[in-house]
Amino acid sequence: MPLKPLALLALLIAAPAYAQHDHKHDHGHHHAHVHGVAKLDVAVDGGNLSLRLESPLEGLLGFERAPGNDKERAAVAEMRKKLTDAGKLFVATAAAQCTLKSVEIDAPILDAKPVAGQKSAADHADLDADFLFNCAQPGKLTGMDVRLFQAFPKLRRIDAQVVSGKGQKATRLSSKMRFLSW
Ligand SMILES: [Zn+2]
Repeated sequence: MPLKPLALLALLIAAPAYAQHDHKHDHGHHHAHVHGVAKLDVAVDGGNLSLRLESPLEGLLGFERAPGNDKERAAVAEMRKKLTDAGKLFVATAAAQCTLKSVEIDAPILDAKPVAGQKSAADHADLDADFLFNCAQPGKLTGMDVRLFQAFPKLRRIDAQVVSGKGQKATRLSSKMRFLSW
């Protein structure tokens, strides 16, 4: 059966091309769990700039279960600290004078009791986080520098989608292309 692996490989190579298409109707349902890939939904509504980040915990933390020792608990605390200090992760157009109003982090697995002998590799878990900024000069808000890649080096890609008064725009971000404009 020498052809089968080759055919599979061809599919894998072709896959990114399929993923490029516009997800215009992609609101609501959950993002696929791919390590290193996060989803960022941005809504610009007057002075309100709201962001929702969905990521496999692996990309933010390196593991996807309740912390089992002090080192892992410290890693969780460090991740929460970075996400809470979101003004450093999402740097909007300076002239728009945006300030961080609230951060909500949702990752129930981190509060679960660790199970002895748990096969962590078999289980996957995501983190969702909501960030709200308020901008004093919304007319000057044209984009933001997404600095998640420096804060979380395991992240390789962010599929971002912006909904603003100008319409809807999808952008694929990476450490080399991290500016989101609209
Ligand atoms: Zn996973």
